[in-house]
Amino acid sequence: MIASKGYAAQTPTSDLAPWNFERREVGEFDVQIDIAYCGVCHSDLHQIKNDWFPGIFPMVPGHEIVGTVTAVGSGVTKLKVGDIAGVGCMVDSCRTCENCQEGLEQYCTVGSNQTYNSLGKDGTPTYGGYSNNIVVNEDFTLTIKDKENLAAVAPLLCAGITTYSPLRHWGVGKGHKLAVLGLGGLGHMAVKFGVSFGAEVTVLSTSPEKEAAAKALGAHHFVVTTDPAQVAAVKGTFNFILDTVSADHNMGMYLSLLKTNGVHIIVGVPSNPHAISAFSLIGGRRSLAGSGIGGIKETQEMLDYCADHGIVSDIEVIAFKDITASYERMVKGDVRYRFVLDLATL
Ligand SMILES: [Zn+2]
Ligand SMILES: [Zn+2]
Repeated sequence: MIASKGYAAQTPTSDLAPWNFERREVGEFDVQIDIAYCGVCHSDLHQIKNDWFPGIFPMVPGHEIVGTVTAVGSGVTKLKVGDIAGVGCMVDSCRTCENCQEGLEQYCTVGSNQTYNSLGKDGTPTYGGYSNNIVVNEDFTLTIKDKENLAAVAPLLCAGITTYSPLRHWGVGKGHKLAVLGLGGLGHMAVKFGVSFGAEVTVLSTSPEKEAAAKALGAHHFVVTTDPAQVAAVKGTFNFILDTVSADHNMGMYLSLLKTNGVHIIVGVPSNPHAISAFSLIGGRRSLAGSGIGGIKETQEMLDYCADHGIVSDIEVIAFKDITASYERMVKGDVRYRFVLDLATL
């Protein structure tokens, strides 16, 4: 076994703390990566606190992983020792179902193997990127072209693909009015992609003080959703709303902002179910949709697109000792826009 160290939550009520554990040996098709940086996703906090479902403890979170390949199995062809590689939210899937065959491993019908808080193919718990190393089947690794901004590339592995994939699926681009709901880790990437794809982008936010930051990211307009006059002015105007908010919010109000045939796409996951009136969809033949991360092929396409177009996440690099304080700031939305753990501080 391979000795690993990281930060783990031992129970849903304990803070993250140092923990030594073991990972499997590097198999024929496995890649071992020495992790350099790992992004801090809001879902890390949801999962160590059992907000969504009972978790597997001890839990080592982290699914925005970049680092250097230190070992490869004899059958590996995708990467070699010394390469820079990434790992996102999944480390394996069934590979045979209809969705896996189409490159939609995130929708694997038997359930993909998540990077942490999940069971691997061998039935043992998976541990994420708040740790010095990881062992992953090569098919679930990503290659990184942008080696200059490694810390800022890390959040692309979740926040990036989670917003890129739905914008591509619905063909959002020139001639479309896109509203991005929430300006956090996901929202700021949605703004960058929306602008890059040619859409007219509006940020919808409860925080008026975020306007300058939204415009600096390239957003064309900013609407304060607690101001009834500003909301009334954009009723029925958007082709798409990309909803990144993971706190409870008034869906009826947001759906009313869509044009006829508009689509409200959910990527944020509040702890409580949304309450939605049927009339808010029937009026204007509106659609309510959701999207989860992206497949491995599309994640690679997104990373290459970002490298070619100079897109990275806006980040604040933090040390492991500050993780709990950083979670508190993340919950308050006090981060522009993603915390990234520097593994050198472990
Ligand atoms: Zn995530
Ligand atoms: Zn499958």
